[in-house]
Formats: sequence, structure tokens, C-alpha cells
Amino acid sequence: IKKPLIILGVIICSNTLLAQKKSTEEKIDSLLSLMTLEEKIGQMVQYSASWDVTGPANDSYNQNKLDNLKNGLVGSMLNVTGVKNTREAQRLNMENSRLKIPLLFAYDVIHGYKTIFPVPLGESASWDLEIMELTARVAARESAASGIGWTFSPMIDVSRDARWGRIMEGSGEDPYLTSLIGVAKIKGYQGDDLSHPTSIAACAKHFAGYGFAESGKDYNTVNIGIHELNNSILPPFKAASEAGVATFMNSFNELDGIPATANSYLQRDLLKGEWNFQGLMVSDWGSIAELINHGYAKDKFQAGELALKAGSDMDMEGAIYENSLKELVQNKVIDIKLVDDAVKRILRVKFQLGLFDDPYKYCDEELEKNELYSSENQEVALDAAKKSIVLLKNDKQILPISGDVKSIAVIGPLADDKDSPLGNWRGQAVPNSAVSVLEGIKNHAPKSVKIRYAKGADLSIGERSFLKPMTINQTDTSGFEKAINLAEKSDLVILVVGEDAYQSGEARSQTDIGFAGVQNELIEAIYKANPNVVMVLMNGRPMDLTWSDQHIPAILETWLLGSQHGNAVGEVLFGKYNPSGKLTASFPRNVGQLPLYYNYKQTGRGNEIPDVTYASYRDSKRDALYPFGFGLSYTEFEYGKIKLSQEKFSKGESIQISIDVKNTGKVKGEEVVQMYLQDLFGSVTRPIKELKGFEKITLNPGETKTVTFKIDEKTIEFFTANQKWEAEKGEFKIYIGTNSRDLQNTSCFYQ
Ligand code: BGC
Repeated sequence: IKKPLIILGVIICSNTLLAQKKSTEEKIDSLLSLMTLEEKIGQMVQYSASWDVTGPANDSYNQNKLDNLKNGLVGSMLNVTGVKNTREAQRLNMENSRLKIPLLFAYDVIHGYKTIFPVPLGESASWDLEIMELTARVAARESAASGIGWTFSPMIDVSRDARWGRIMEGSGEDPYLTSLIGVAKIKGYQGDDLSHPTSIAACAKHFAGYGFAESGKDYNTVNIGIHELNNSILPPFKAASEAGVATFMNSFNELDGIPATANSYLQRDLLKGEWNFQGLMVSDWGSIAELINHGYAKDKFQAGELALKAGSDMDMEGAIYENSLKELVQNKVIDIKLVDDAVKRILRVKFQLGLFDDPYKYCDEELEKNELYSSENQEVALDAAKKSIVLLKNDKQILPISGDVKSIAVIGPLADDKDSPLGNWRGQAVPNSAVSVLEGIKNHAPKSVKIRYAKGADLSIGERSFLKPMTINQTDTSGFEKAINLAEKSDLVILVVGEDAYQSGEARSQTDIGFAGVQNELIEAIYKANPNVVMVLMNGRPMDLTWSDQHIPAILETWLLGSQHGNAVGEVLFGKYNPSGKLTASFPRNVGQLPLYYNYKQTGRGNEIPDVTYASYRDSKRDALYPFGFGLSYTEFEYGKIKLSQEKFSKGESIQISIDVKNTGKVKGEEVVQMYLQDLFGSVTRPIKELKGFEKITLNPGETKTVTFKIDEKTIEFFTANQKWEAEKGEFKIYIGTNSRDLQNTSCFYQ
């Protein structure tokens, strides 16, 4: 650090002159050759902004961070947002540090930055890759306009357990669908060219296994074998790497005894080895330090050693690398080559983003003003919100609300909630800024309809901090009377119930996935007063809806849809948009069924009978209440017969599978045509069926479209007993239909 600055200036200047001619790799190498060990380790440090970066540090902990920032000993910061703050933090670094390596600012832009889109589980129900790419693009534009160059998204953890609070942040239970959605998101965030001013680096997280936490408890142990890991958990990550995602994040959990953060098989052998990933791997928050809590490292030195050897390049807010790597290198426990490799990866991302050309690339106040929450962005939010809604039940076609309905009672703790639709991980959303369901109903109901509102009950979860247990009103039913009266004198009730925004997300696991508080009592009391009920659900996880399914005539799953929640619901309730969403996570009959997923394995005693059998439970059916892929429409679709181009195929060949789908109802609608495959025998046991293709089509009344799928050896490959991805010969069942349960099938053979 004390090398004379003039010499350095000359080196950097001549470096810059040569820069145009040099490739990125050469630039990285020449920069690396100038760096001291401390500066290298500094690049591997990521701090959270725990003080106001525009002012002095308020305690010694933050003073240390601030000093390191000025001394060029920090590579990245998270949670600095807004042009004013990021510009100042960047200035502190650029104007004081020796080598002037730009900082990279990261943030959890999960489902929007200022304009909020549906929570990921909800949005995945759209099965619409274009809209999912577009919402990521808009989120990238907004965050790039506000100082951010790196989002910790997409979360591509497959999850099968609705108790897990973070099921909300993913795309459900299927690895194939999650892969496609992950790739769409990466394209949206990163654009075609990372150096473009509106492109930000994406991050495939959490690598790996986090979604399989035992009993749905967050951060919990994951005990799963190598085949299941490769076949069910890793495909979305491989797809993300192939799609050119700039960064990965590892995860908090241990995997078969080895914490993911210190897992060389995952990070070195697979990701950086077989998959040839050149980007950077950031730890999860403090997960390097947590190696000590796991009982895997005895102290900070061993934690640093194990994490770096296993391939973790950057230490997020864990203070391990900064306090251990220097000694580890000096004592020859760590080879400097490992440090160099990590630093090169970090610099590579910064070069790709164009930060060396302009460290203030993301700092344009004017753009910030115009881009955030623009009316164009609200339109995208509305479109995504509508497409994410899933119609779960619609007896007697109570929906869309008919012209005969003259009065509507809007009831429920979430009906006028302008905050919960924003969900958890809501970026920089303004609190209470969403359109509530009540507002949406008023915006979209015909003027002649009388709309009255009664809350009925509170659903306040007390302090929303995840450090405190939830405290929900379990007793206060004083609002019931007014709500019951209103229900009695109205033609129709819209009952808006579910979960508060902060019942799902990190550290928000629950043992009960029913309605919290006095909502059950409220639902029953209102139904008794007027059975003409449309239940509008707002929630971030599959819930136990068994009672409601048995009684309530119409159920609309609306998740937490973001800024335009209410308008999207209004359009669907009044038939301006025909719901087209399909579930991406099974809704169980009871919490005891969890984990629950459609692509399970056959037991030795058979599983085909979805009823009570000895291969199942004595007190419950084994299948889902609403299965994966399920969702109704205001119209009906008729499927023709499956047609195959040929029954048998060999290496290099493919089979075309086609089916006619007709809209036999009275209104235009969209249908997600789904194709599943079952591999009847394998060198390791195979799931009962797996999604292998889908197409979302729009059909006018009376219209027919032919949907065509292709099967080749890629389609049937899996991680075999040879520990490789291979296609094995044999018989396959092809299933096509409207959800993972209602399917027709035929057979084909790979030989
Ligand atoms: C979460 C990550 C997140 C990080 C930074 C962690 O607690 O597990 O998903 O990106 O915090 O906020």
C-alpha cells in the first residue's frame, strides 16, 4: 500500500492506454499483478451498509468498515441503495484507495425494486417465460437507475415443503420449470450485454440444497443422496451457469454432512470444474463464519481455509476472509493461487459490467427520477399480476361476477391491506403503496354495484421481525358482527384472507399452513351468513384449504401480487381477464402430507392409487388437494388424442408429439398444455412422472390449436448409476394434459 503513488499512477495510466487493445483477461492479470495480498483479500470482502454511508461511522465496528473502504480493502457492498448513497460510497473508495478498483453494489432485488411484481412463487404460476423475463428486465432497469449493479436473484431452489417460508421466493417444486424460469430471469437482469447501463449481474442461489431443509425448518440439515441432488436440485443451477449467469451464491445448509459453503464437490468439481463457470461465488450472509456453528470448522482460520479451498470467492458480511486469509497465505495453508483465482473472478464481473470504464455507471439522478415506479413499469406489474392468478375452484360458475349481482360485501383482514401485496423482500417499495383488493374491486366493478366493506378481524403478526415469534390476534372477534350483517344483506361476499406479507420469506417457516388468527372462525361465520362466497387468497406458500374447498364455492389464489395487486384481482373477478395461472407447488390436504410433490418415486408397494392405501396414510389421501400444474379458467378446453410421429427412437432421432386443444367455452382463454414423461425402469429409480415440456396458448371460443412437443435423448437424460447424465434405453410413458393429475398417456421406446 505504501508503494510510491506516482509510479503507480504511471503504471495505471499506461495500463489505461493499452487497455483498448487488451482483452479482459489480460486486464485482469495486469491489475492482479499490481495488487498487494491485503488488496486481493479486500476484493473478497463484502460489507453490508450498517451505517449511513453519506455520514461518519457511528461506532468502531462501522469505523473499521469505513476505513477499509477508503483503503481499497472492500470488493463489494450490499444494502447501499439510491444514487446519492452509492455515488458517495463509490467516491470514498475511488478517491482514497490506491488502485481505484470500483466497488460493486449488491441488493436483494427479488421481485422488483420500486415497482413490485408478484412474489416469485406467484409469478411462476403464470408459466409465462416472457413476462417473467420482462419483470426482471424492469427490475434491472429500476435498480440500475438507483445505483445497484448486482441482484441476489433468481432463487432457483426447488422446494417441496410449504412449511418452508422461502418457498415463496422460488418457482415451486419442479426442476425443469425452475430451470426455464431461472434462465428467463437471468436474461432479464443481465440483458444481452452486461456492460449496458441497464444490465445488472444476476445471482443463482442458493447453491445448493437449501430448499430441501428437513421438515421445512429454515437453514436446516439436508440429507439427500447424490442422485436426487443431481436430478432434482442441480438442474436449474446447471442451466443458470449455461445461460451465463455472472454470479452464484452458496447456501446456509449442510448437505449430507458437509456445509454447502465448504462443499468442494459442488463448487469446485461441478460448478467451476465440469460446468466451467467463470463468474464469482459469493457466500450467503455470514455462511463462512457459520461453518464454526455447524461444527465443521474449529475457528475462523479453519473456516476461511475450508471455504476458500471449496470455492467460495467472496465473504458476505462474515469477517472471516478479512481476518484469516493473510495468515493462512503467509503460513502456506492456502496457496496464493486460490486467492488469485477468487480475485480474478470478482474483477471479471466488474470488468464485464463496465465498472472500470465508469465506476459511476449506475449513478444518474435524472434516470433515477424517471425510471422508478414509472407508469410503463406499473403496466408490466399489472400484466404479470393478472397472469399469476390461479382459479382453484369455481362451482356453478360464480365467477366472473355476473350482472345479476347488485351488492357485494368485501370482507376480511387483507381486503383493504395496501402493504401485504408487496410481499417480503420488497426492494425499496414504499410501504402501503400497493393497490388493495378493495380498491381494485371498486376500480373494476360496474358503477351500479353497491360495494361495502367490513374488515371482520385483524391479521397483524405483531412485530414483523424474524427474530421474534409471530403474535397473531387469536381472540378478538369483535369485528365479526358488522361483517356478518354486511354478508347477510349482500348478494355476494368477497372474502379476502390468507397470510400477512411477512409470514413467508427467510426464517418464516411455519408448522401450521392454515389460516392464522381468527380467520377460520371468520370464514365459517361469513359462509353461514351467506354461502355465496368468493374466497380471494393472499399468501406466499401453498396453504391447507381443505375446509374451504369443501364449502366455499369459488376460490381464487392471488398470492402477493405486488404494486398492482388489487387491479389484477379486480380484472379477474369481473371477467376482464380470464385467469390462466397454474400451480407450481402442490397444495396439500393437510400439513402432515408435507413434503408433497407430483414427481415422487414409486414405492415397492405402488403408488398409483391416489386413495387411502398401505403405501399411503391411514387417515388421509396421499395426493394433493390441488396438484402441480392445476388451475381453472372461465372457459373450457377439450384435448384431442395424442399423436406420435413414431413410437421408437434411437440416438440422434426424435419423436414429435402433437395434440389438438380446443376452446369449447364462450370466452377467450389461455391454457398451459403440459407434457410429462415417465421412465419406467432405470439404473436408479425414476419419478412417477416429470414435466418435460409445456406451451401456453391463447384460444378464442371455438378455436383449435395443435401443440407439438419433441422428445429426444436430451429429454430423457438423467443422472444415472454411472454418476453421469445419460439416456438409458427402455420404455417411456408420455402424458399430456391440463395439470399433473388429469392426463392421457401413450408409450414410446428409446432403443
Ligand atoms: C439470504 C440471501 C440474501 C442475503 C443478502 C441471506 O440471509 O439467505 O438469500 O441474498 O441474505 O441479503
